[in-house]
Formats: sequence, structure tokens, C-alpha cells
Amino acid sequence: MLKYLLVVGVIVFVYFIFIKKKPEVRKKETQTKEEIPSSEMVECAECGIYCELEDTILSKNRYYCSKECVKRS
Ligand SMILES: [Zn+2]
Repeated sequence: MLKYLLVVGVIVFVYFIFIKKKPEVRKKETQTKEEIPSSEMVECAECGIYCELEDTILSKNRYYCSKECVKRS
């Protein structure tokens, strides 16, 4: 009877560890997914200013902050 209780206790212990760990992993995944689009900064190939990836101009596999920098290069 004591052995049976020990086995049940271990199963409950492992079960609680799995339940506690899963939400933490999910939180970390959602946090990184939210951070990536806003923190993606790219250096301008001409003047060296860091701009958000959405605002940059891609020319010849290089990122530029403005059309003026594309003309200068
Ligand atoms: Zn620039």
C-alpha cells in the first residue's frame, strides 16, 4: 500500500511539473513573436543609420533608409 501511494505521488508530482512548465513556454513563445516585428532594425548601407525594416528600401540586396541614400551609393 505504501509503495502504491509513492508511485501515485510521483505521477502527481511529474504531472504538476508538466502543467506548470507548459504555460511558461507558451508565454515565452508569444513574447518573442510580439517582439520580433517591432525590434527588427536594419543599418542603412550608405549613411549607417538604423531604420525599421518596414521603412527601408531594398536595393541590390542592401537596405537603405531613403531614396537619397540609394542614389548616393
Ligand atoms: Zn541612409
